[in-house]
Amino acid sequence: MESLTLLKKLISFQTINPPGNEYECAAFIGSLLENLGFQTSTYDFAPQRPTLIAKFPLSSNKTPICFTGHMDVVSLGELAWTKNPFSGKIKGDKIYGRGTSDMKAGIAAMIRMVQRLHIEAPSLLENIMFVFTAGEETGCEGAYHVAGLDNVLGKAKALVVGEPTSNYPLIGHKGCVRFDVTTFGKAAHASMPELGDNAVYKAARVIQKLEAFDFNIPSHPLLGEPTLCIGRISGGTNINIVPNRTCMGVDIRTIPNQTHEALKKSLESVLGPDVDVTLLEQVKSIASDPEDKWVQSVFSLMEQLLKIKIEVKTAPYFTDASALHEALGEPPTILLGPGEAGMAHKTDEFCYISKIDEAVEAYIKIVKQDR
Ligand SMILES: [Zn+2]
Repeated sequence: MESLTLLKKLISFQTINPPGNEYECAAFIGSLLENLGFQTSTYDFAPQRPTLIAKFPLSSNKTPICFTGHMDVVSLGELAWTKNPFSGKIKGDKIYGRGTSDMKAGIAAMIRMVQRLHIEAPSLLENIMFVFTAGEETGCEGAYHVAGLDNVLGKAKALVVGEPTSNYPLIGHKGCVRFDVTTFGKAAHASMPELGDNAVYKAARVIQKLEAFDFNIPSHPLLGEPTLCIGRISGGTNINIVPNRTCMGVDIRTIPNQTHEALKKSLESVLGPDVDVTLLEQVKSIASDPEDKWVQSVFSLMEQLLKIKIEVKTAPYFTDASALHEALGEPPTILLGPGEAGMAHKTDEFCYISKIDEAVEAYIKIVKQDR
């Protein structure tokens, strides 16, 4: 199946998360890979929410390169689409649809890679394993699920994440820690505020402290400095009641050596004992060594393929690598996929068609140079 046909088929599975519904998409990918000789298994983190793992029966004790992609996509958003988001409409060098860039084109290119290797160099198939995840867009749920199971993933020599990078190899990304920060007061009638204690006023002071928050950690050579953003706030129930509670959602993008325990402690010490700080979720940062031999070999083959000088760069978003990296034995990791990062989560999302076969070439070269 040509990569474009594969991508069209993948887009037709409506895997908007929530609810996800990755089951049929996983079954489709699984049957294609089984036809090529892969052994597949699925692991549901919730009913009908499988992560698919495919490995080739090993004739040697080679450690495979793990290729990963997520099958779920984000909602269509609030704006109306001018193209059908699930039909894969083609116009010029663009194919439109939800998940084209983020990141079903990456999955299509990975499947196309093994279809071609099956004919061109079948002995290389055992150098490859796949992890196609469910629930990535809501916090890497499927990836964390399989990473937490004993004897499921095994070790990998390297990890390739097919997220949208326009095929530019990126070698890491920040992690993320999210907290609910809550202030408490005492309700009273708004006509007699002196009888209450206004939790919104307390939140205002908390916001100023968070805006000025000092991480007190040196900038990371690849990932730069950590950041903090208050992304949501809710306080009070009615205009005529003194609010007794205000809750803020705080998103912190982290660099290596920052732990959620230490961050929670320093937030608590800055905000004081009356403010509650509750951890919601966390994913770790990824920073491959730019001098690593495998990373260097990918850089040089991508320089030949893209005909540009590859510089050391990282991604703004986090990926399933946060969940998979440790379980796979902390292999060197790159993000490399045909999608456009700027198209992810957008209305009328598209992917450049020419980039998809370019990704197939890149993936094949990555596997071949490892022989
Ligand atoms: Zn993605």
